[in-house]
Amino acid sequence: MIDFHCHLDLYPDPYSIAAECAAQNIYVLSVTNTPSAWTGSSRLGHDSHRIWTALGLHPQIAHERKGELPLFENLLSKTRYVGEVGLDGMPEFRRYWPDQTMVFARILEACARAGGRILSIHSRRAATQVLDALEAQPDAGVPILHWFSGNYRELQRAVALGCWFSVCLSMLNGTKGRGLVGKMPQDRVLTESDGPFAQVDGRAALPSDTDRAAIALAEVWDKPADEVREQLFRNMRHLW
Ligand code: MN
Repeated sequence: MIDFHCHLDLYPDPYSIAAECAAQNIYVLSVTNTPSAWTGSSRLGHDSHRIWTALGLHPQIAHERKGELPLFENLLSKTRYVGEVGLDGMPEFRRYWPDQTMVFARILEACARAGGRILSIHSRRAATQVLDALEAQPDAGVPILHWFSGNYRELQRAVALGCWFSVCLSMLNGTKGRGLVGKMPQDRVLTESDGPFAQVDGRAALPSDTDRAAIALAEVWDKPADEVREQLFRNMRHLW
């Protein structure tokens, strides 16, 4: 299983979730919301070579944590993975837009200077603005749009810009999400849980729920589930 966007450090008992992932051979991109959380969160991956910890600065707290940008830039040489970063256009976060755009631009610039990174990107109600920022920094690395919810035109533009997509079960349960997933290039898709924020069956989503996402993908793509699981592994290996 592949969970390419999970907030491992935000579960009530992150070590037991990490141990479970190691026991089940789940590949996890463990994203963080602040640069100061990165070092501690990285310890969750010490017992598994399948857990990678991404360096992040979440757009919803960009205004509170912009002072950690120098720390972000210092830590960037220690990891190939960046996230969760991006922009959030929901009304309650829109008021901090200048901080959000400044932080995201600085992060993309730092990634470009560092030779590129693999980025897990939030783009809720801000797909066009995220794509504008990516277009302005073509050397930032490989952008993976997590839980993408833009429109078809934005999806087409994202594909043309070289974006990848990580998709969760909630997305695959909705008509709009299934429509988008049906139009994504199958060689640029990975699964994610977005746990513990995303919900599955009324509880926090777990990394092990990503196999259900793979099965749902198989339905949308009209392919056998095993073929889809193999495709997802090929995609992930391609990123290495
Ligand atoms: Mn997230």
